[in-house]
Amino acid sequence: MSKTNLAETLQNYEITCKTLGISMRKKWNKEYLFARRMKSNSTKISFISKSKLEGLKENVKDFVLNDLCEQQRAKYFKAVKPARFIEGLIDTDLTSIASESAIEVIKTTFNRQFLETISSKFTVYEGNDICSAYNEANAIVGCMGGGKPSEWFKVYADTKDLKLVALTDDNGCILIRALLWEQKGKYFLDNTYEQGAINGDVKLRKHYQYKLYAAVLKHLNKRKLDCKFLGYIDAYLTPSQKAAASEPDREINPILEGDKEYDYFPYSDTFRSICKLDNSWCRAKNEGNTDYILLEGQSGEDMNNNLTTCFCCDGQFSAEDDEIVWSNFHEEYMCTDCCIYCEDREEYIMSDDTSYDSWRNVYVYSGDIE
Ligand SMILES: [Zn+2]
Repeated sequence: MSKTNLAETLQNYEITCKTLGISMRKKWNKEYLFARRMKSNSTKISFISKSKLEGLKENVKDFVLNDLCEQQRAKYFKAVKPARFIEGLIDTDLTSIASESAIEVIKTTFNRQFLETISSKFTVYEGNDICSAYNEANAIVGCMGGGKPSEWFKVYADTKDLKLVALTDDNGCILIRALLWEQKGKYFLDNTYEQGAINGDVKLRKHYQYKLYAAVLKHLNKRKLDCKFLGYIDAYLTPSQKAAASEPDREINPILEGDKEYDYFPYSDTFRSICKLDNSWCRAKNEGNTDYILLEGQSGEDMNNNLTTCFCCDGQFSAEDDEIVWSNFHEEYMCTDCCIYCEDREEYIMSDDTSYDSWRNVYVYSGDIE
């Protein structure tokens, strides 16, 4: 619908519907007025029904319709998904039950056509803009979709040469996004996340994935690019892109350059862990190895951080390395520097609460001594 307008497209659909035995409402183009792509949400159609307009003219004093006025669009017009819009134009009373599957095809096709033709712009985010892009992109579906705290994405912002690439609509809203990792001129385009309207249709998703892939190639002025979803968009690739895609992955380990401690982390798709020793991002999970931060959680945590806080000194210790123990007596965790095992009690007790019995050569709980 980039070259033809919505009205023309709908007229073509009327002809197609007729061929398929689907009846459209007789006066649909006189009942659904001023239909066009919604400005604030390019995945929807904005229109006003004839009856609504008549009601407004009757009940609102001095009402004059201005279909170009955004406030009027927001206040009086309806905004619906394209599939829902075309469904509304179909006269179900006149359409036989046999055509139900044909209606589904019409809905899917129209929906896809409308959403494939959103005018989009290639956008690159760097540094802290990556954080805000993650945080603001409310329409994006997936575990790290909109509304997560910006702080979680700080490790991305601080990673050398890492960028977030996206296709955005005229309103600046992200339609699809992916991380573009770089190390010494080698690139890796990560998994994509997109708006629900796009994500819900496999073909549509592939359409946008390929569009983003092609935009990145152009941006980098390259003919090939290592990419997470390359196999998924195989059918869309040109022969030379396909040939390039068959080359083996080139391993990179981008470097996180922030020198501060991070409290929160995102879920990360391809680079699953960060090595604390050299700050490099790794594809391996390194699960259970506390030299690595594991970015597998969806609650902002380092999933390898299983350290426990000592109730006495507030230090953090690893239970696996027996640096910290549970005391039933105190009902708290204590590090082995802060407590002593008392045989009489068969318990770990806070050092300050113990005394040394030199006659028996054991520590005892002070409260047990007369
Ligand atoms: Zn302690």
